[in-house]
Amino acid sequence: MKIHSKLPDVGVTIFTVMSKLSNDQNAINLSQGFPDFDVHPDLLALVEKYMRSGYNQYAPMQGVPALRERISEKVLELYNAAYDPASEITVTSGATEALFASISAVVKKGDEVIVLEPAFDSYVPAIELNGGIPVFVKYKFPDYSIDWDDVKKALSTKTRLIILNSPNNPTGAVFSGEDIDALKNIVRNTNVLILSDEVYEHIIFDGLKHESMSLYPELAERSFVISSFGKTYHTTGWKIGYCLAPANLSVEFQKVHQFLTFASNTPIQYAYAEFMQNKDVYLNLSAFYQKKRDKFLTLIKRSRFKALPCHGTYFQMLDYSAISHEPDVEFSRRLTMEHGVASIPPSVFYHHQDDHKVLRFCFAKKDETLEKAAEKLCEI
Ligand code: PMP
Ligand code: GLN
Repeated sequence: MKIHSKLPDVGVTIFTVMSKLSNDQNAINLSQGFPDFDVHPDLLALVEKYMRSGYNQYAPMQGVPALRERISEKVLELYNAAYDPASEITVTSGATEALFASISAVVKKGDEVIVLEPAFDSYVPAIELNGGIPVFVKYKFPDYSIDWDDVKKALSTKTRLIILNSPNNPTGAVFSGEDIDALKNIVRNTNVLILSDEVYEHIIFDGLKHESMSLYPELAERSFVISSFGKTYHTTGWKIGYCLAPANLSVEFQKVHQFLTFASNTPIQYAYAEFMQNKDVYLNLSAFYQKKRDKFLTLIKRSRFKALPCHGTYFQMLDYSAISHEPDVEFSRRLTMEHGVASIPPSVFYHHQDDHKVLRFCFAKKDETLEKAAEKLCEI
């Protein structure tokens, strides 16, 4: 029997590859992005409470009302945007599902989608499975700024969607007010939609402010805004996210979501809804991770790695050109096997595997993990 793959060039995602290599080698895993510290005990207790009190059957397709209401209140408070919990908010099984559902909802065969590279690895396969054509624009190296003229040039009559991600994985770059102004100018008077991956909205450093699409009505009216509870509450394994979009876009989004997963985990949604009432947890997350970033940077100061600026997310890019000229995929493999520290080679986030001799390290780790990893990195 012959199988005609719909994704002939796609292999196993780098996160699975590097985490497996790390486990096999008993290395310190700073590759795949997930915290190695505990979930807040109150949140665990709430999940148990809702599981034990019978909240174990299907949630409503759009998400449990209490959670949609809390999300709506948060977004109103932080971004001054009024999303109607009844028609403009959908709870999903992680941001990954929300990304896939948004793309599937609006991208048809032959539509072009602008993707900024390096790009999170789920975007392009989702575009291609829907018959769309990715059109790539690169972040400038090494500051990972965007040349909006390049984005403008990439636009055509076929452009359906532009995918944005700030704070950005893997670069740690974040949008400024100037980026937003340029974006507004580009999309004004077009039918281009925006998919804004804002999963790191609460992890932004040095006093910078998160430039959510929802802050700007003229951008919000054409945007799917996506976030993830996994990043905010140290619960990446629970796979709950959400999508904000105006009602006309949310209707299309929900047409896909209802047949992709139908609904997401019920007791966890109730637990998040109650836990979200404690706003300090997400309001203090940036300070928490900024400390981690600074700790990691101090610990590796005497190493031969050179840190690139990191303004948000829990990823730090390190330049290794003073150590080796190997391609990043090979160097990260050797770093894991010979030196016991796993990282992610960012070339996998480019369609032409651009190799800048940098690696991505996740600092969402206990201080002792960062200390042990840094000790090894300083020996190289
Ligand atoms: N987008 C980006 C940029 C991410 O880093 C992640 C984290 N894996 C996701 C989307 C997916 O989030 P989730 O784990 O909620 O599916
Ligand atoms: N977002 C995480 C990262 O970038 C993990 C994503 C995944 O494993 N699919 O490392």
